[in-house]
Amino acid sequence: MRQDCSVSSISNAARRSGVEPARRFTVQPMTVLPAVARHLTAAGTRVYTVPLRAFPHFQANAFLVVQGELAAPSYAALVDMGSAHEDSLSDLQVGLAHLRSEYGEAWSWDTLNRLIVTHPHPDHVGGLPAVRALTPAPVAAHIWAVPALEQPESRGAAWQVQVEGHLRWAGIPTESSYAERLRRRAHHLMLPSPVAVQTPLQDGDVLDGVFQVIHTPGHDGAQVCLRVDDLLLSADHLLPHNSPPLMPERSQRGAGLGNYLASLDRIEALDGVEVALGGHGGPMSDWRERIRDLRARYGDKLAAVQAAAQQPVTIHDLLLMLYPDLRPVQAILLLDQTAALAKYLGQTGGLKETQRADGAALFQTQS
Ligand SMILES: [Zn+2]
Repeated sequence: MRQDCSVSSISNAARRSGVEPARRFTVQPMTVLPAVARHLTAAGTRVYTVPLRAFPHFQANAFLVVQGELAAPSYAALVDMGSAHEDSLSDLQVGLAHLRSEYGEAWSWDTLNRLIVTHPHPDHVGGLPAVRALTPAPVAAHIWAVPALEQPESRGAAWQVQVEGHLRWAGIPTESSYAERLRRRAHHLMLPSPVAVQTPLQDGDVLDGVFQVIHTPGHDGAQVCLRVDDLLLSADHLLPHNSPPLMPERSQRGAGLGNYLASLDRIEALDGVEVALGGHGGPMSDWRERIRDLRARYGDKLAAVQAAAQQPVTIHDLLLMLYPDLRPVQAILLLDQTAALAKYLGQTGGLKETQRADGAALFQTQS
């Protein structure tokens, strides 16, 4: 494994504007993206990380995976494509053009062999309809992701219905700001327009003879990690700085902490992986240590939930007890996470789940 650090440190914004990078950094620091980076796998596959501004102040990575001669690649695949946000799409175009001009990669939208979706979240797949218009490359995604990509409208409508049941279950007042945020989120999760999936993936598949497909449900039920030789594209399953947001399993098939932890075990069992590249942030050569840290972090979070649930409490009660200084912007992620933790403890015997007369779930630590 060789990490090629001979990359330009110029930001995409600076590349576009031609403004000298140092000056640009001072003026608009939030527009600065990490440089495009190249990894070479043991067998010589070139894997480029293209950072994107998926949303304002929130970056994600797309990847171009290329085999064969620089001047005439025999295979090229785009893994994830950022959001539908115009900055994200422009960063993708600029980053990919940079691979041609700076690295001599003669890839093109016309000859691209494959589009791959690691998981159907808006920061990774929102750009798919726009990219679909640029290339005839067939789309591959986990088989459970197919409805979200091919019928986003009906998926969105199902979410809206589900949200009301979820509010009741979690004990959230239906007129509260949380309720409004949850209803809005159901809309944001939708792909802007449908895209057909030509190749539904399953665990163990070898896609195009290049990618070993590892189904890693948890953060999303339909998430896959992709192994290329000694490199792992770890999607949002394994990230360098964050524990990925989790929803309870009742919200989505394959979601939840139990699935997430089991998927960590599966990734940890991989032999010969030298580096992991996640859907956000930089490369992880210490990815095994990262797995141990994540397990420890969830252990602490579970203990905090158990300590808070001495009396029967709803998810909403737990949220307010655990995060008294909760900021609105974090509210939905932490609500989901609290639900995922409580549900996991309910399943594994750490909490007893009963039901209140109005349908809200009550959780209490088992004595
Ligand atoms: Zn993500």
